[in-house]
Amino acid sequence: MNTHTTLSIIVPCYNEEESVPLFYAETVKQEKFFGEKGVELEFIFVNDGSRDKTAEAVKVLHEKDKRVHLISFSRNFGKEAAIFAGFEKASGDVVVLMDADLQDPPALLPEMYSHIQNGYDSVATRRVDRKGEPPIRSWFARRFYGLMRCISKTDIVDGARDYRMMTRQVVDAILSMKECNRFSKGIFGWVGFETKWLEYENIQRAAGETKWSFWKLFLYSLEGIIAFSTAPLVLPLIFGIIFCLAAVALLVVTIVQAVNGYDASVLTTDCIIAFAAGIQLCCLGIVGMYFGKLYIEIKNRPKYIVKEEF
Ligand code: UDP
Ligand code: MG
Repeated sequence: MNTHTTLSIIVPCYNEEESVPLFYAETVKQEKFFGEKGVELEFIFVNDGSRDKTAEAVKVLHEKDKRVHLISFSRNFGKEAAIFAGFEKASGDVVVLMDADLQDPPALLPEMYSHIQNGYDSVATRRVDRKGEPPIRSWFARRFYGLMRCISKTDIVDGARDYRMMTRQVVDAILSMKECNRFSKGIFGWVGFETKWLEYENIQRAAGETKWSFWKLFLYSLEGIIAFSTAPLVLPLIFGIIFCLAAVALLVVTIVQAVNGYDASVLTTDCIIAFAAGIQLCCLGIVGMYFGKLYIEIKNRPKYIVKEEF
């Protein structure tokens, strides 16, 4: 059984003045369990440019509990930046990422930790339902995960939350991915390691409101597709081949028409247009394939991540 000394709890916060004290009160209840295991808690609240009194709420907690730390951004940089900053600051040999709104139940922490103790590198969570979510949002979310499964080699799980506990080794692997356009759900899958999945039913926010409008989520999903797949760059090549095949079919029809003595001049023009468009799209697709390779090179991701060596 593995032993650890510190669990860092990273909490990205954007306008969460009401949630912060509720989150702390609820989560600190788990300190008894962790104390018995000899594990200290460390709270890292990342204030992502909130316009309310989130930072003050964290300072109040820091006054009475020095295990509470704050990183305050100069403006709103987005949840992904807040997650990265939290990982950089975390000193624990086990780290857990949690939302401030108690949608990630702290009561699950002991179970998550027991799996880490039993040798898992990472314990991830997924919601089994999307109760309370607008149906249109759920529909688009399902389509997004379906599409990602088709076009990306990285394992991105439907309903996966960012609520995840991981060992220092996994955190260091995540930190070794320096890309600016970050999509954590993809990064967690990309780094690999042995992951235990826990499931729970969707929980409503404790206070405040969601920071993700439909539009923001849509843009975020595009971010995910672009960060973890170069398939869209090859699309012109597929269209180009379809156009070229259409041009060949038209050519056959044109020849048959001409042999039978019909006027085939209109078809000839169609055939030339389809062929020219097809060749152009193919060229664009080929450029796209090279661009895709270049894009992967620029990200400078590690070529591999070692889990163990002797
Ligand atoms: N969050 C953040 N920066 C942002 C948006 C959200 O740090 O720009 C935080 C937010 O405070 C919360 C977590 O990310 O702790 C998840 O956000 P939210 O609960 O609004 O998302 P939802 O659960 O509705 O998907
Ligand atoms: Mg939430």
